[in-house]
Amino acid sequence: MTKLDGLIDSILSDMVAFRRDLHAHPEIGMEERRTSQRVIDRLSAAGNFSIQSGIAQTGVVALLNADRDGPCLALRADMDCLPMDEATGVPYASTIPGRMHACGHDGHTSCLLGTALVLSRMVDELPGKVKFIFQPGEENDGGGRMMCEAGVLANPKVDAAFALHSWPAQPVGTISMCPGAAMAGNDGFAIVVTGKGSHGAYPHLGIDPIVVAAHIVIALQTIASRSIDPQDCVVVTAGVFHGGTVRNVIPATCRLEGTLRSYKPATRERLKELVRRIAENTAESFGATAAVEFTEGYPVTVNEPALTEWVASVGREVLGADRARTDDRPSMGAEDFGFFAQRVPAVMFRLGIRQPGAPSCPALHHPQFNFNDDALGVGIRMLCELTMRFLRDKPNL
Ligand SMILES: [Zn+2]
Ligand SMILES: [Zn+2]
Repeated sequence: MTKLDGLIDSILSDMVAFRRDLHAHPEIGMEERRTSQRVIDRLSAAGNFSIQSGIAQTGVVALLNADRDGPCLALRADMDCLPMDEATGVPYASTIPGRMHACGHDGHTSCLLGTALVLSRMVDELPGKVKFIFQPGEENDGGGRMMCEAGVLANPKVDAAFALHSWPAQPVGTISMCPGAAMAGNDGFAIVVTGKGSHGAYPHLGIDPIVVAAHIVIALQTIASRSIDPQDCVVVTAGVFHGGTVRNVIPATCRLEGTLRSYKPATRERLKELVRRIAENTAESFGATAAVEFTEGYPVTVNEPALTEWVASVGREVLGADRARTDDRPSMGAEDFGFFAQRVPAVMFRLGIRQPGAPSCPALHHPQFNFNDDALGVGIRMLCELTMRFLRDKPNL
């Protein structure tokens, strides 16, 4: 057994307990106070770290080997949960109604903490610095952007960044990745349709914004099917449709909200133009008006291709020849790790969490989703091996 194996073994049951504690106490984006304090407590107890807290409200950065020459590698995890009820039935299920770790961020935080604890006991074998970044608000708030804008990639300057995301489609013991553009860019839209309220029995005296909004939702479907090159992947989803208070009143307004996903900057702009044109002109054709607003989302997450191949080669050596694939297809999901990848060479790899032999595993954001504790050791081992080898071999420098 190598020193690394022994150290990972020695912390694993503790990290399982740590992960389950986070799972039972999920915190929504930008409110991860308990979670970040738990992380700080463990890092402080380990010693060796210079720790900064309260970055972007609840973010934590721990630097190992601050005074050592050599490259600086960043490892990043996200800490936030989702606003939904849990239906797993596990003994450590969420104790907070309307809050759930349904995206595995409890597992990501535990993998990164475990890696930090192991590497803090191997400092003499690390020819460089390691920055452990625990960020808030990945799901909706762009915590990654806030952390980058707060300067977490500077002082000392980070040479590359790695992250992992739990992946239900892959079995435990494997990793996979998509070289190049891997996760879509996203933007949000909101459309407020204003018509004219009236009695539900006298529709001719009003302008029904619900009917107008329904036409807008249908017309938005033609963006992907008729307006954008079919070879250029896009998604237009209306996820909110709110209007009216009672069945016999035609309301004055109706609100739609949705998400746009794309991979190319020009397509991203084109999607916004089309949403605006369809909403405004459809509303006008019925005598209503539509006010359209966009909120900027996340950039495309780009895995630096050569570095991705290097991560896979480490994965094949550490996990097995057939256990680190690079043939993943790009996903229309979005990730705010994209903000890190915009600034430094970066790779996010997918960590398998499906129990081998099980035909399936609840999807990310599903009420029965749960990170698999059997994957914790795999994630920690990969992050440790990547760090030690990156600092030693400087693959992209
Ligand atoms: Zn998520
Ligand atoms: Zn996630």
